[in-house]
Amino acid sequence: MLKAETLNFASGKSLVAEKSDLRAEEVLARLEVDLERLKEAFGLLGVSACSWCKKFFRRSDPGALFDAGELICYGCIREWWPQRCTQLSTKERENLEGKLVFWLRDHHGAELFKDPAKLPETSLQELHIVANCLECHGTGKSLGQEHCRYCEDRGTVWVIVSRKPG
Ligand SMILES: [Zn+2]
Ligand SMILES: [Zn+2]
Repeated sequence: MLKAETLNFASGKSLVAEKSDLRAEEVLARLEVDLERLKEAFGLLGVSACSWCKKFFRRSDPGALFDAGELICYGCIREWWPQRCTQLSTKERENLEGKLVFWLRDHHGAELFKDPAKLPETSLQELHIVANCLECHGTGKSLGQEHCRYCEDRGTVWVIVSRKPG
């Protein structure tokens, strides 16, 4: 009987047709199971959800979802990252930040800036992330030297994805 009802749901029939003796929680619990199964099916089809906005994206598009342990779509990075990095240890943050910067560079043409005065105009920035310099680990000093040429001793670099025209 449970099976037949599940099938009804899958074929798109309204929940109004559910047996009235089912309590709301039971219906909800079943919906959750169905949803999990749908997600699994999407997974088999090569589609995964962003864990932030829950929208589905194709995994075959390498620029669509960033794998941070959880999957995050490009559009959510700006909101997700500032919150996520506060939950990470220094080491975890450094690893994930490095991975994110490379991903943004490879798939979204992000550019690294050493000097905040040289950033593109705000209106031309699609994404703006302030990251620790990967070369000197944010210290501004590289390999025992007093200077880091990758960040001009600031310890910080600006990662910018420019708005595409049109
Ligand atoms: Zn998203
Ligand atoms: Zn540096």
